Amino acid sequence: MSGVVQLGGATKTYPGGVTALDSVTLSIGYGEMTAVVGPSGSGKSTMLHLIGTLDRPSAGTVRIDGHDVAELSDRQLSALRARRIGFVFQQFHLAPGRTAVANVADGLLYAGVPRRERERRAIAALNRVGLGGRLTHRPHELSGGERQRVAVARAVAGDPALLLADEPTGNLDSVSGAEVVEILTELNAGGTTVVVITHDGELAGSLPRQIRMRDGRVV
Ligand code: ADP
Repeated sequence: MSGVVQLGGATKTYPGGVTALDSVTLSIGYGEMTAVVGPSGSGKSTMLHLIGTLDRPSAGTVRIDGHDVAELSDRQLSALRARRIGFVFQQFHLAPGRTAVANVADGLLYAGVPRRERERRAIAALNRVGLGGRLTHRPHELSGGERQRVAVARAVAGDPALLLADEPTGNLDSVSGAEVVEILTELNAGGTTVVVITHDGELAGSLPRQIRMRDGRVV
């Protein structure tokens, strides 16, 4: 088991015949930080769905944290996703009207963590992203950058093997975006494996590794 992500000839063909991912073989090691970068339509979202175990390949293999997704039932796949993968999206996806602590703690529900422990971990995660002073703020009381930091805290509160961030700076001004990238970099320095999906060449270039996509292939 050499990588947290191991794709072997991974292919995804959608109904209708579009091959969005075309025999991609790659490995992302534990502790790495990498960008998956390419223009619109190059297959990044499809790659995100396969790596995030939200979808299965049409052909080839996808191994995540040592598990071949083809060998897991839907239920086992959900459990793997809940326990081992943290997601950050462009649109933050925070629950309105819920405090920062509640938003982060709720992310641990599916991992089966008891309530007290959820809160304890949520507060620790918010401290890690520099929001220790915003614990009881609700999303509408936070800036865009702070909201995304809450989303990052939610993604890492369960100590995932893999943090998957899909255009994490896409809705942010450049200063807030840089802060979010800095936090991802700090989390990586602390041992978290980070994969950032982006069309932004500048953001990708600032990360230690780039996986460049074009027409469903790694170039
Ligand atoms: P990116 O995220 O880089 O924009 P995508 O993975 O979304 O690329 O898309 C890759 C290709 O697959 C595109 O040609 C797109 O139109 C096609 N595609 C993506 N999702 C679907 C789908 N659900 N059904 C059919 N074709 C799709």
